Amino acid sequence: MGMKIKIIKKFFLIIFIFLFTNIFVLSEEIYFEKFVSSYILVNNQPKYYYLTYENKQITGFFIESIEWTDEKIKGYAGNINLQIYFSLDGKIKNIKVIEQYETKKYAKDVFEEKYLSQYYNKDNKSQFILGEDIKAISGATISCNAVNEIIYQCVNNVHKYIIGKKIIKKDFSLRISKIEILKTLTLYILFFMSIYGFLYNLKILRYITMCITIVFLGIMYKGGLSFGHIQNFLYLNFTSISNIFIWSLFMLVIITTLIFGRLYCGWLCPFGAVIELLFDLKRYIEKRYKKTLGKEIEFEIIEDKKIVKSLRKYESFYRYIKFFLIIIILISPSLILIEPFQYIFYITQTEIKFVIYLLLILIICIIFVRLWCRYLCPLGAFLGLFSKISFLNLQILQEHCFRCEICKTICPTNAIIEKNNKLQILNTECILCNKCRQNCGPQNIKIVKKLQH
Ligand code: SF4
Ligand code: SF4
Repeated sequence: MGMKIKIIKKFFLIIFIFLFTNIFVLSEEIYFEKFVSSYILVNNQPKYYYLTYENKQITGFFIESIEWTDEKIKGYAGNINLQIYFSLDGKIKNIKVIEQYETKKYAKDVFEEKYLSQYYNKDNKSQFILGEDIKAISGATISCNAVNEIIYQCVNNVHKYIIGKKIIKKDFSLRISKIEILKTLTLYILFFMSIYGFLYNLKILRYITMCITIVFLGIMYKGGLSFGHIQNFLYLNFTSISNIFIWSLFMLVIITTLIFGRLYCGWLCPFGAVIELLFDLKRYIEKRYKKTLGKEIEFEIIEDKKIVKSLRKYESFYRYIKFFLIIIILISPSLILIEPFQYIFYITQTEIKFVIYLLLILIICIIFVRLWCRYLCPLGAFLGLFSKISFLNLQILQEHCFRCEICKTICPTNAIIEKNNKLQILNTECILCNKCRQNCGPQNIKIVKKLQH
């Protein structure tokens, strides 16, 4: 048993060493040596543009996007600076990447010539709508949004200040594509299903919702919400959520968390759904083998009850790791790459070191149910803070409790604790999976208003 606990401790140690040694090599930066060609003053700030020549003739000019956007636009993991080349009539002729901190798989797609060339020959009359005149890359929404917004603002400012043509103001509503609207409607339906299923304690609906969310938010839209969205929001960088789908997802998650608690975690997070379904599958295989062979197979031995007990013993310590991770991600944004969401649904384009990292997380979550959610997920921790003040929550009715502790054993996030000789549900940890209600009885564990406490 001591040996197994040591193995678990080593696992955590390896993950942390991996993260901290990678922080310095995760980002990719390309520097551009600046030279001054010409500038204009805008609000007393010089904005530089550089003339391009061919046979001593001016053929056009280029700018650095970081100086020409109205506000600071960030990507998934930091600043993006593009060198945008224009013809003399203000049409985009070329785009080069000077600086970006996105993960390689995003950089590979979004910053490739193949992707950026779709902007060539566009000017201030173009719409720049992702999903319509500009193709988006699913799974790299934040980076695509950021790049699109940067180019859009630069083109308009170049026309306003250099070309001198009247800027065509585009109505925000015009910049929403039909596909975005359809996606967003599906999202609303998914949230409705989860609310309905939770309130009416429908086990089957939970599994259906989890399967749909894996396909819809996971496979099709590469991972659902990320702590990166929250981080950008906290840093007042709204570009990453300016897209109506992401904005709706963001708002729906926050609103449902404020009303119910961590509904997103228990019903809609695609990664949470994958690890829970894998764990359930493991359990199913265990039972099947036991039936045919009449003895316990190795799976059961791996999930050592003593280790589970030991994890529970130090639970109150381990569950603070995720809050600690929030702080370090806020200080060092590139550490957002610890989130496995982006790798699992983008596996073919994930670097091998991240695939190994993902496999480690998956294996440990197959052995110990929802271990990532319990101890490591920064998004889950953030939502946990919100659910502390949620309007409704699950409560064990003490007068009906016989202290059989079935609910405590069955809870996938160890959210049921003993306090003052009573079993209580910790809102910050409860993911509203309803497993306790289904095993103990809905009359014993009820959804109550917070004020009724
Ligand atoms: S804790 Fe994180 S991974 Fe788990 S369900 Fe919530 S958001 Fe998803
Ligand atoms: S307390 Fe109940 S509803 Fe909450 S996570 Fe545990 S089993 Fe699920």
